[in-house]
Amino acid sequence: MIGIFGGTFDPIHFGHLRLAQEAASALALQQVRFIPAGEPWLRDTPRASAQQRLEMVRLACAGNPLFAVDDREIRRRGPSYSVDTLSELRAELGPAQPLCLLLGADAFLGLSTWHRWQDLFGLAHIAVAHRPGFAQSSWADSMPPALQQALAARQTAGPGALASAPAGQILIYPITPLDISASHIRTGLQQGKSPRYLVPDVVLNYISQNQLYSE
Ligand code: ATP
Repeated sequence: MIGIFGGTFDPIHFGHLRLAQEAASALALQQVRFIPAGEPWLRDTPRASAQQRLEMVRLACAGNPLFAVDDREIRRRGPSYSVDTLSELRAELGPAQPLCLLLGADAFLGLSTWHRWQDLFGLAHIAVAHRPGFAQSSWADSMPPALQQALAARQTAGPGALASAPAGQILIYPITPLDISASHIRTGLQQGKSPRYLVPDVVLNYISQNQLYSE
């Protein structure tokens, strides 16, 4: 099974890298593909350019044989819709290849606002990593009814079931909580605080060499 991990990565940090590593282990993934969003359409314009965000993802992923970086959303014009990305990957990798979209719990809660979100289930599984601050028991309350219904119909108890089908199931699984967010890192940098030990050293160096996020 191949994991697909999209994000703004503005900048990439250890919360992202740890999610990918633990997903690879928990779901027995042969690869995690990091796909930085070119033009995220659900949020403000990123602070770093698409090329800079891509470069930071490349630096952070270098040396991990499980990780691959895919720049298709940055090369593609227009808003970065996951449904388009997954359709392309499905066409390239064939109908039988199990694919799994990797999301943090906060991202999953917003899923029903995504462009053609119901079509995602025909293209990939979705694996949701618990993130700090999102207790599973309080989820149902914060979830829109359509998403609750999708979860009730598609949730599977264990990762084994995912590999037996190419798409369509939802797995919720725990990861080591790391309460790191890109927005917190950006705010800290504006105040002159170093994100050392929140991001890999190669990313730290890239940020300082390019004077990112300082104003
Ligand atoms: P921002 O603070 O700017 O919103 P972010 O740190 O949440 O950014 P994104 O690039 O928006 O980073 O997130 C990409 C994906 O990574 C999302 O699915 C998100 O849920 C997940 N993610 C981000 N940070 C963590 C973390 N610390 N632990 C687990 N998952 C995370």
